[in-house]
Amino acid sequence: MAENYDVIVLGSGPGGYVAAIRAAQLGLKTAIVERENLGGICLNWGCIPTKALLRSAEIFHYMQHAKDYGLAAEKISADIEAVVKRSRGVAKQLNQGVTHLMKKNKITVHMGDGKLVAKGKLSVTKDGKTEELTAKNIIVATGARARDLPFAKTDGNRVWTYRHAMTPPKMPTKLLVIGSGAIGIEFASFYNDMGADVTVVEMMDRIVPVEDKDVSAFLEKALKKQGMTIMTGAGVEKLEVGANGVKAAIKDKGGKVVSGDYSHVIVAIGIVPNTENIGLEELGIKTERGHIVTDPMCRTSVDGIWAIGDVTAPPWLAHKASHEGVIAAEAIAGKHPHPMDVRNIPGCTYCHPQIASVGLTEAKAKEAGYDVKVGMFPFIGNGKAIALGESEGFTKTVFDAKTGELLGAHMVGAEVTEMIQGFTVGKTLETTEAELMHTVFPHPTISESMHESVLAAYGRALHI
Ligand SMILES: Cc1cc2nc3c(=O)[nH]c(=O)nc-3n(C[C@H](O)[C@H](O)[C@H](O)COP(=O)(O)OP(=O)(O)OC[C@H]3O[C@@H](n4cnc5c(N)ncnc54)[C@H](O)[C@@H]3O)c2cc1C
Repeated sequence: MAENYDVIVLGSGPGGYVAAIRAAQLGLKTAIVERENLGGICLNWGCIPTKALLRSAEIFHYMQHAKDYGLAAEKISADIEAVVKRSRGVAKQLNQGVTHLMKKNKITVHMGDGKLVAKGKLSVTKDGKTEELTAKNIIVATGARARDLPFAKTDGNRVWTYRHAMTPPKMPTKLLVIGSGAIGIEFASFYNDMGADVTVVEMMDRIVPVEDKDVSAFLEKALKKQGMTIMTGAGVEKLEVGANGVKAAIKDKGGKVVSGDYSHVIVAIGIVPNTENIGLEELGIKTERGHIVTDPMCRTSVDGIWAIGDVTAPPWLAHKASHEGVIAAEAIAGKHPHPMDVRNIPGCTYCHPQIASVGLTEAKAKEAGYDVKVGMFPFIGNGKAIALGESEGFTKTVFDAKTGELLGAHMVGAEVTEMIQGFTVGKTLETTEAELMHTVFPHPTISESMHESVLAAYGRALHI
């Protein structure tokens, strides 16, 4: 007999497991279905293990620069195997944490491949055995996977997806990273700091192309200064995998095809949603460019079926997935959550230097018809940044000149991924320049650059 629930969540990433917890908190009998690891990509193969790797690289970098701080660190070396082991340990700890949270919230976990078989009906198959579950509401949270290059399959040996790059069989000596979005640039930064010779190829005319142009330009300069080769407006046309490495044919900005030899290649050209074989077509659930179409309450085109996270529209970020999970669960429980507002979702990239942003870039604000006021404050004018030896960076703010509304904030430099939330709270509360100017920022902190950037937009910066 089919097991009956109030809510079934298909997929246990940061979207799915958070949705399940919130549904259970609201008194709904909840089940979650997962075919691989509880916690999804984020905890096991994404956000968390990469941050663990990047932390090792950051410490390694500081050790190499110990002299700058009046310290001595001799015979420094990096053991990639131990670095990866630590990262996998961190991922495991978080995976166990989710297992514990499922138990604590009395959420039934069904391990196996889930498929919608009808409205309110889901099958779960494992080891050839299929069970049927029913629920009035089903939340699809199946996430996404790495997009492959059409002309070169990733093989885990020389040509890597993010999963391979997270568990490298050995340290690459000469690495080609294809794609400079958040994932590509984080791996480029990690391996560069760990001592590899890194080249990044980006098709667009600048790296991290979704960010503000000033951030892209600053980051490119900083990464080049660290020894990275960056080719923008360029495309990899061919990869030939040999016994000792990979030969790449790259069409550069000028249209000339150049050839390069690399020990390894990371393909980071985007993601593909996991929408195949889960019953979407049979139920007539609407998709667009492969992703499930939802309204701001996470409803799909079919009543009783909801979708959240990477399987839906961008931005494809863990915190967006989790927030949608809460919205969907609350809406199912008959509450009235605020609908998702994608304008207020921050984005962070943990390269070195870090970048973080929320809201509109200067160009997008102008495109949207705003008359803007822009403030820029460099970290070199910030006492804490200088004391930390981290004076490389800036904070940029974009305001609506007419109303003073904060439209966007863009940061590059040390700790900006921790600071952007200040602007995110401001944006969510629809703050204006007057309130931000009136806010007292603690001294000495790099966050003072946020205040100064606001002041700068109105010609009132104090320390520059
Ligand atoms: C290398 C890397 C670094 C990243 N870093 C960050 C970061 O720093 N910050 C950030 O916000 N985001 C980051 N992301 C993105 C983030 O991981 C995703 O946005 C997030 O995991 C999406 O969550 P989700 O719940 O939608 O799906 P996922 O985390 O993808 O989880 C989906 C789950 O569904 C399961 N599933 C799929 N199909 C089925 C099925 N038919 N039956 C059963 N189970 C199924 C999968 O096994 C998976 O566990 C990173 C991603 C990568 C790859």
